[in-house]
Amino acid sequence: MADSADRAGEIIDANLSSALHRSRLPNTVATDPWCEECGEEIPQARRHAAPWATTCTECQGLRESQARHRR
Ligand SMILES: [Zn+2]
Repeated sequence: MADSADRAGEIIDANLSSALHRSRLPNTVATDPWCEECGEEIPQARRHAAPWATTCTECQGLRESQARHRR
């Protein structure tokens, strides 16, 4: 089971890096700096690493684990 979870993680990583390549604008922080799930401010480090992120790290993790359960 751990195997398929690892593979899912790899697929997510691949999607993220292709998203990165597609949105290669100098100023990509177009989203609100607040998590759309919990309303907390998304840490600047996360917004720099993932400018397309609309949720904080915690909510993103929750979403990913939910997506994994839903498959
Ligand atoms: Zn959040």
